[in-house]
Order: sequence, then C-alpha cells, then structure tokens
Amino acid sequence: MNNAFLKVLIVVVLLTSATLVGIAQDPPPELPAGLAALRGGASQDPQPYEKVITKDAKTKVGIFKVHQVKDKYYFEIPKSEMGKEFLWVTQIAKTTNGVGYGGQALGNRVVRWEQNENKIFLRNINYSVVADSTTPISEAVRASNNDTILMSFNIAAFGPNNESAVIDVSRLFTTDIQEFSARQRLGATTMDTNRSFIERISPYPTNIEAEATHTYTRIAPPAGLPTAPPSPFGGGGMNPGSATVVLNYSMVKLPENPMMPRLFDERVGYFSRSTIDYGREEQKAVQRTFITRWRLEKKDPNAALSEPIKPIVYYIDSATPTKWVPFMKRGVEKWQKAFEAAGFKNAIIAKMAPTKKEDPDFSPEDARYSVIRWLPSTIENASGPNVNDPRTGEILESDIQFYHNVMNLNKAWYFLQVAPLDKRAQKLPLPDDLMGTLIEYVCAHEVGHTLGFQHNMKASSTYPLEKVRDREWVKKMGHTPTLMDYSRFNYVAQPEDNIDPADLVPGIGPYDEWATMWGYKPIPNAKTPDEELPTLNSWALEQDKTPWLRFSTDGSAGSDPGELTEAVGDADAVKASTLGLMNLKRVAKTACSGNYNRKRNAIR
Ligand SMILES: [Zn+2]
Repeated sequence: MNNAFLKVLIVVVLLTSATLVGIAQDPPPELPAGLAALRGGASQDPQPYEKVITKDAKTKVGIFKVHQVKDKYYFEIPKSEMGKEFLWVTQIAKTTNGVGYGGQALGNRVVRWEQNENKIFLRNINYSVVADSTTPISEAVRASNNDTILMSFNIAAFGPNNESAVIDVSRLFTTDIQEFSARQRLGATTMDTNRSFIERISPYPTNIEAEATHTYTRIAPPAGLPTAPPSPFGGGGMNPGSATVVLNYSMVKLPENPMMPRLFDERVGYFSRSTIDYGREEQKAVQRTFITRWRLEKKDPNAALSEPIKPIVYYIDSATPTKWVPFMKRGVEKWQKAFEAAGFKNAIIAKMAPTKKEDPDFSPEDARYSVIRWLPSTIENASGPNVNDPRTGEILESDIQFYHNVMNLNKAWYFLQVAPLDKRAQKLPLPDDLMGTLIEYVCAHEVGHTLGFQHNMKASSTYPLEKVRDREWVKKMGHTPTLMDYSRFNYVAQPEDNIDPADLVPGIGPYDEWATMWGYKPIPNAKTPDEELPTLNSWALEQDKTPWLRFSTDGSAGSDPGELTEAVGDADAVKASTLGLMNLKRVAKTACSGNYNRKRNAIR
C-alpha cells in the first residue's frame, strides 16, 4: 500500500466517522409503536431487586421464576438457562365463532435467551443450515446465518448473588410481534394493544405457559371487493370489524441431550425434517433429512420386548362425551401392537385428562401433555399435527383435534358403503357400539400421523382384489395393509362373502407394524445416523418381496395408479367399483323401503 493511498483512506475513514457521529447526534426519529416495543425502550440501569420485585409481587416458581407486580409480568431467568435452546409454540386457544379455531397452531421456532451487558436478547435460532461444530466451516455457517433478535429487554434487576436476571416481559405478550402473532393467520389489518392483555403466565419445571388476550381489527375493503377473502392458512379469516382471541404460548426446553436422529428413506412413509449440512465429506452441501418420531428407549436394552423408559402418553380431553371415551382410548392403544414389532411393550398409553376441578393447572395447551381434544365444531374432520425438535425430528408433544361432526361423516360413509354387510347399519342412527368403532378408527388414524406417519394412499392397491372378499384373509390382514390409507370400509365385499362386520373397518395392518419397526426399532451397535443405514436399507428391501409393505409419497401426485383415495380393492379399480355399486343399489333399496324414516335419518 503506498503512502498517497493510505492518506486518502484515512480521510475517507475520518469523513465517514464524522458523518456517523453527526447522525448519532440527531434526535432519534419517532418509531412506530410496534418497533419501539421490540427495542426495549429507554435504557435504564438495573435497580435493586427489592425495588422491582416488591413485597406485593405474586411469584410462581418453574424453569424461570415468574413475578406479577400489578399489571406487569417479570421473568427471572437463572444464569444456568441463558443460552439454552427452547421451542416456542404459539397456538390460538380460544376464538370467536367463525374466526380460526381453538387449538390452531401458529407455528413453532427455536429461541434462546442471551445476556449482553445490561440487556437480554430473545433470539430466534435458525436450524435450516448446519455444520458439525468440530469442522472449520461451521464458523462460516454461523457467520452467514446470524440469529435474529426477536426482542430486546433491559435488565430491571439482578437476582441474589447475580445468579439471575429480571426482565419485564409484558410487551412480549401484548404487542404485535410478527413471529408470534395471529394477525396474518386471521387476515387482520392491525392489533389493538388497548384491548390486549396478559391472562396468566404459568411456569413449570421444563416449560412456561402464557395466555394473552389479543384484539385484532380488520378494515373493510373498498366497495365492490369481497369482504372476507379465505385465509391462506385455512381455519377462516375474520370479517371487517374486531375479533378477540386468546393466544397460548408454550416455551418448552429442548432436550439438552438431543436424540440421535434416524435418516429418512423415501420408501417408508414418515414425516421428516431437513437441514443443509456443510460439514460433510460429499464435496457439496448435502440435504440431510431425518424422520420425525418419539424418543423410545428400552428399559432393558437386552430384552427382545421391553417397556420403554418413557412411554408415549395421550390424554383424552375431559370434554369428550363419556360414552366415546373407551373407544378413544382403544384408538390410541391399538398402536401397541405395532410397537411390539419394534421391540416395545406398552409403548403408547391413553389416560383420561383431569377435569378443571381435579387439576386446575392442567391445560391442553401445556406442551408437556399430548391431548386428544374434542371440539364442538360442525367441521367433519379430525387432524393430527405434532411438535418436534427441529434439530433431530424428536416428537415432543402432539395435540389431536377431533371435531364433533366427524361422526356425521363416518355415519354417512358406513351406511352408504357397507350397510348391506352389517345388520347394525340397516337402521339409522347407528347404534353406539358401531359409532364407537368408527370413532376408534378415526382416532387411530390421527394418532398414526402424530407418531410420525404420512398417508400411504398406495397401500389398498397392493392386495389382490379377490383377497379383499376372502373372510379368512381380511380377518388376518384387513382389507387394506394400513390405517394410514384413505381406504374406508370394505364396500367390495358382498353379503355372500360373510365378512365379520368387525373386519369391515381398517385396523393396524402389516404395513403399520413394519413401518413402526423400521422407524422405532433400536439398532444397538450404530453410534451415528450413518451407521444405521445398512440395517435400515436391508429392512426397506423387504418391500421387494412383500408388495403390501410398499409406500408411495404424497409428492408423487397421482403418478402411481395405485394411489387412488377412498378406494378399496383398487388393484382392479373397475371390478372393485362394480362390486361397490352393487352394494350401493342394496342401500338405495333399504332407504326407499317403507320402514325407513327418511326425514329423520337423512344423510347429509
Ligand atoms: Zn390423515
């Protein structure tokens, strides 16, 4: 570098600094309310602990202490939890009619609390790009994926011996933070902070639950435009005016000892999580995809069949009509059979959720509990999402939504498809034992999703058509190899086939047992996901000789002719449909007969 150039450089640096100083001296422009909230307000030095957490404070103890002083809420974050990773789950807990629905998820993200001098940052951690921390490139990966600061807080006080930091978190739950807000989901224009407040914040040993009431408004569109465009996320957008909803926030500590993930294989129907890994030997950044699954570890690793250290537990919502509870429990525990194929006994258990009187702190939104919620909704459906560790695919909890009117859908299906094969269905409404069986079927299917399974629409086409009419075959194998196909009730069977009515409804089939084995069976000597590959591959190859273990991905979009939905016996779809129509003609005859009350029993 020559002298003249150095001089020019110094002048440029000086000029730039002068400009910067000049800007710094200007009064800061007024920030929009939302942005000011994110910044943490004017800087103030920490106060003595007793001045902030006064003797009027109501304190609850959990992973963080939570103090309420008048209408302010404080987190007291212990030093030991700084820098640790948490999963932040936001859901709509309560809503007004027609706007979203209770239990609807608003997304989940990994966050970390970080101290920086007298400030605490809440950071969003991005796990879409990774590299092994022992490789030199991991530095660069970190440098190019700086984690976003979602909110900054002044430390209001330090706890005794500086072992904790106290921050006012009221803003976090009462202002519109895009990452946690329902505004976009509801199609609202703005959030009104004057009509928004914290309902409660409850800390538990490994998580914190918060509930806040938020009021959103939507401005009417100009005349001539439709008033409520459908929300791109489903669940219903709001109409012009206001809507007040209750949001639930769960901050769950992620395992400090992450589960060893299992690599995804397109031949087996698991949901998955992907990251781009820059720390590998393949001479390119590779996409690593892991299956989502629960962490099951054997109590006795040497036993062929062992109970797990921690079983998967589903709580049945106390709002569930009492007469359906035993069927819901059976729908969950049906899967025990599949886990036995993976070497686990009593791997999955259903329990009744406590009522508000029995345990006022029990909440279906609490991320420690997986709850099957019974929702008073006219939606004819059910859904089974899960919350999983983005680092490993470990399923941490799952709340299944069961809508009351899914019963109506199943009643219609069963009556129209197989009434001629089951005396109980020749009169409506269906008797409770039969409706219970249908509820059990829907429940088991949704539980299947929350165990990690995708739909396998190809499955029903892998059985030879004549076997679907064979009483002995369906007793043992079912009319479809899996609960995860949209293959409902066996409409291919004819009255003269004498199929046991109990076998007209899908149950745990050979694919379910095999796929559970593939994803959950421990591979004792493998110490890394890559070391599991030869075993996983040899298991997957069983599909070569056994067609009903095969799977087709959702992504193949109908390219496999076996992928028909709502189909039974679609190895020969024309023949199967002809047989189905023969049953439908019998149904029409019953429906038109004099002893059938058309008005009362109308199928809608
Ligand atoms: Zn499904």
